Amino acid sequence: MDDVRRVLKQFWGFDSFRPLQEQSIQTILEGRDSLTVLPTGAGKSICFQAPALCNGLHGNKGAGAGDLAVVVSPLISLMKDQVDALREKRVPAALINSTQDETEKREVAERIRRGELRLLYLAPERLLSPKTLGFLRQQRCVRYFAIDEAHCVSQWGHDFRPEYQQLKTLKQVFPEASVHAFTATASQPVRRDIACQLGLCEPSFLIGNFDRPNLTYRMIRAGQKMQQIMEVVNRHRGQSGIVYCLSRREVDTTTQALRTLGLKAKPYHAGLAAPQRKANQDSFMQGRCDIIVATIAFGMGIDKPDIRFVIHTGMPKSVEHYQQESGRAGRDGLDAECVLLHSPRDFLVWSDVMHGEAGQVARDSLQAMFELCNDVTCRHQAIVEYFGQDYGVMRCGACDVCLGELQLHDQSADIAQTIVACVQDLKHKYGAGYVARVLAGKSDKRIFQSNHDRLNRFGALGDHGPMAIKVWIQQLISQKYLCRSGSYKTLEPTESGRRLLRGQGTPKLTATGRSKKSADGSDCFVPAISSLAAFDYFRSGDSIESVAQKMSRAQSTVVKYLADYIRHHGINDPTPWVKPETAQRVLANKHLAGDGKMKPIFDHFNGEVSYDEIRITLACDG
Ligand code: ADP
Ligand code: MG
Repeated sequence: MDDVRRVLKQFWGFDSFRPLQEQSIQTILEGRDSLTVLPTGAGKSICFQAPALCNGLHGNKGAGAGDLAVVVSPLISLMKDQVDALREKRVPAALINSTQDETEKREVAERIRRGELRLLYLAPERLLSPKTLGFLRQQRCVRYFAIDEAHCVSQWGHDFRPEYQQLKTLKQVFPEASVHAFTATASQPVRRDIACQLGLCEPSFLIGNFDRPNLTYRMIRAGQKMQQIMEVVNRHRGQSGIVYCLSRREVDTTTQALRTLGLKAKPYHAGLAAPQRKANQDSFMQGRCDIIVATIAFGMGIDKPDIRFVIHTGMPKSVEHYQQESGRAGRDGLDAECVLLHSPRDFLVWSDVMHGEAGQVARDSLQAMFELCNDVTCRHQAIVEYFGQDYGVMRCGACDVCLGELQLHDQSADIAQTIVACVQDLKHKYGAGYVARVLAGKSDKRIFQSNHDRLNRFGALGDHGPMAIKVWIQQLISQKYLCRSGSYKTLEPTESGRRLLRGQGTPKLTATGRSKKSADGSDCFVPAISSLAAFDYFRSGDSIESVAQKMSRAQSTVVKYLADYIRHHGINDPTPWVKPETAQRVLANKHLAGDGKMKPIFDHFNGEVSYDEIRITLACDG
């Protein structure tokens, strides 16, 4: 180990190891397979780079083991960055990839033959080509393999790459070499799967600390998204942030909307040409634009320390994804904010996407993500516990739950009692989905056949959809009023649940209505994304008809966009769109429009003035 310390000091200038680095390195020195799970930025690279430079490594393992470490990495850009950095430190490292010509490749092979090279970086498909395998085998030089971003091995993980799965061959072709996997995100089942897929032999598992105390998490029901996004952005004017969207289209519309609102935002997704994508990324990295609006294509290898906020406009499909993406905020250790806008619909969309093809672990991770969003327990605790770590803090003081920001339903106790009672009625034989449908009053076949439409509480929560009720059931489970049991995950009341039926206990259920009031009490008007998309047309003086045509929208819809445009810019002259005398007549009767309702005015004019004209005139009146 002293040898590694010397290496750490000599090549990197560091005096001490970070948590688990020493243990991880130890497994390599001992030649014992391992999986190291450390959050991004924790320093995984050194774990597999430093041992390659130790003298002690030479020949201390059986015949055939040489002094080369082979690093498998999924992205050429990641490899290149690492190799460049190593070369700067005078470490004999090289990479082989598809962008090199034959001479370059031959040169690398020559250095391996001469035993000069200590670290070789390869993409999995390159490593697994018969030619490369044959060459390395013949040279008998590989001491160990490091598999970086090892979650790519697991189909259950969040970034599966088929070419990673073939890596199992390594243990067979190089029985004398050890294999060491590294990743930032892997729940327990994914970890086991990685070890299994790579064929690791009695691996040592090293799991790091996943809490990020400087991040404040907020998980909010999606409403008027642009308004919700702007609330966050306004708290961080001029600072760096990422807005993650679920689709390319949403990236484009959101970027456009932010730009219309005067923000420096750029898009990033796989549908953009590579040079454009690179330019936008550079612009963000160098601080020329504040906000990058992106799909999950953005991020691997991004190491910008001063990202102050990460917003998700929809729910990611796994906690791993969420941890990774939100984790890009606050790398410098200073406070940063992570806001997730979610709706039960996101869950249904992902379930559809996964239908049939995804394994149980993927579905479990989706379910865990859904629970994370909808639970009324500390977000820090929930995330950390998901990654298999104990969370010792009582109140984190850095999430919407612990900060008391959740909007609770004012009839939480009544609703909770109804739900628990219904679970009783159903004699603990059904799961959450079924109970929710009974309470919502859905008379589907199964309910009908079981006569459950005759239960007292059938339809008792009929004002709410099954999805909303499912969310509440989840909240009652997390507060231990209900529990799931057996392999069918049927619901049962707990002891607290039974006490609740006797009127004891204070369950917390969230309000289903979308919150209108913002977290900081401000109530500024932000137009919807769809409206913002029309703003450029209005600005350049396009008529309502022409905008309707260009956007393929109904004229009445475009008039609504226009009303937003007028309000947003505080325009008070309606005459570009409405005849002056018509506008005057409307204004003279505006007192009829109580509560923003236009019908009384419309009726007053017996159809002589259109709804569109009324809407535009009133918008100008503020
Ligand atoms: P990961 O791959 O886990 O995301 P990296 O290997 O890219 O993290 O390392 C992140 C940063 O931490 C790098 O700048 C690296 O130089 C630094 N680092 C790693 N180990 C140490 C250490 N023992 N002391 C100080 N800095 C370190
Ligand atoms: Mg890394």
